[in-house]
Amino acid sequence: MFKETRSLLDKLNHLPNKKLGQNFLIDGNIVRKSIKMAEVQTEDAIIEIGPGLGTLTRALLETGAHVWAVEHDPALAEHLQKELIPDFPTLQLIEGDCLQYPRAKLPEEQVRSGFKVVANLPYAVSTPWMDAILSGPLPQRMVLMLQKEAADRYCANHGKKTFGAISIFLQSAYKVQGQHSVSAGCFYPKPKVDSVLLHLALLENPVRFPTAARDSIRRIFTQRRKQLGTLCKNDSRPEVYKWFEQLIVSGVKATVRPEELAIEHWQNLAEILL
Ligand code: SAM
Repeated sequence: MFKETRSLLDKLNHLPNKKLGQNFLIDGNIVRKSIKMAEVQTEDAIIEIGPGLGTLTRALLETGAHVWAVEHDPALAEHLQKELIPDFPTLQLIEGDCLQYPRAKLPEEQVRSGFKVVANLPYAVSTPWMDAILSGPLPQRMVLMLQKEAADRYCANHGKKTFGAISIFLQSAYKVQGQHSVSAGCFYPKPKVDSVLLHLALLENPVRFPTAARDSIRRIFTQRRKQLGTLCKNDSRPEVYKWFEQLIVSGVKATVRPEELAIEHWQNLAEILL
């Protein structure tokens, strides 16, 4: 697929845009693997972020799935419009920013009946996009190409330096089903960072954090080296310090630091700040 991608870029007179994270997939195995992991079926509603040249998009559409995609680059959006829409009326494409349209304008009835996300994400915006996804209606399954560093943060357990607010929000809603390293040679141009394909399945009883809890937790992790008690005392919401006092009663040591506290304890804060 390397040659086809190069010649398509030449034909479009398009230079990959670094700022938009344009590292296009050129490995058919990774495309097939993403679709298999997501268990894509005919009639599935799939969101794709950053369809780019349309390699993954076409493969998704060929399964009979319906795809809602959002692409920021106007030239690529125009190419997709010309290239894919005539053959696949099942593609709904919008030109725009995935942070403004994290669900690519998926209609309400599709949201209610369930949807999945399959995407080779633009790495620079993967965390704010994930944050937006986790605060709204949740996809049943997500298969995402990510920078390894971001995936490590999403999947980190407490006690690790990489454990933070996003680890808590994500693992409270999703089980990590698998994580596969993907070599830089699977993309054109080759990214300078390591990549992984991450497979997430929605938990039976996902916990979603209300805005107040998300804000407090994010604030706490900006000072992760301080003791949790001090941070909770300084929080503008008195409930946060009450939560800390309950933690101590339940046996957590008073000198605990944010990164040492297990996810289930943070989930209690989600209930308290509902
Ligand atoms: N899906 C294609 C593939 O696998 O070959 C392209 C993936 S490339 C890593 C990321 C894509 O996301 C690019 O097409 C880029 O233009 C697009 N993109 C970057 N920032 C975006 C944003 N904020 N919203 C939507 N698309 C974005």
